[in-house]
Amino acid sequence: MKVFPKIMTIELDSVNQLPGRKLPLVEEFLTLQGEGYHTGRAAYFIRLGGCDVGCSWCDSRFSWNPDLHSLVDTDMIIEHVIESGTDSVVVTGGEPLMWDLDYLCRQLKLKNINTFIETSGAYKLSGVWDWICLSPKKNMPPEGKICEKAHELKVIIQNKNDFEWAEKYRKLVNDECRLFLQPEWSRFQIIIPEIVEYVKKNPAWRVSLQSHKYMHIP
Ligand code: SF4
Repeated sequence: MKVFPKIMTIELDSVNQLPGRKLPLVEEFLTLQGEGYHTGRAAYFIRLGGCDVGCSWCDSRFSWNPDLHSLVDTDMIIEHVIESGTDSVVVTGGEPLMWDLDYLCRQLKLKNINTFIETSGAYKLSGVWDWICLSPKKNMPPEGKICEKAHELKVIIQNKNDFEWAEKYRKLVNDECRLFLQPEWSRFQIIIPEIVEYVKKNPAWRVSLQSHKYMHIP
């Protein structure tokens, strides 16, 4: 399901003249990374609005429509990052690569902040990243060379067919990329035994759990 055309990124950027100097901010908060390789690590999360990937099980639907979220000066977001005292930022969404993230990353790197992104890879990569977590979605598969650049591949498993999808992308990422299978939250009880058995037979994969949901933190 495609709700918003790709051209929206260009239209909004041209209105603001300077790409990436304003971003549609849904929320920002200091928390712990709950998923994947960096689970348990403190980081400042920046959630950007806009996503047309349309995953049926999405738990961030409130972020889909970028028009519902104010365009905020990127410099102001960076100020908040610095004030939080963190050394790491996770940019998430929505699909954050709908936006030009070069300016955000450049400014964060000048402040010696580690940059992490959570993306489906459905849009062209922008920004400079210390860590790219690629979570490919069947509705809109990744574009371009992001697979080769990903540090982490995190595939959401909703049913048994998704293991094939995971293996397809395992072949496309680089040899150093960490591999994670994560149960779709609403199907956890049904699918976790399948994932456990799969990882026992395919030990290159590890299980990622949404630990922030158990900790009751954002
Ligand atoms: Fe939701 Fe992420 Fe899928 Fe977009 S890509 S619909 S934000 S799960």
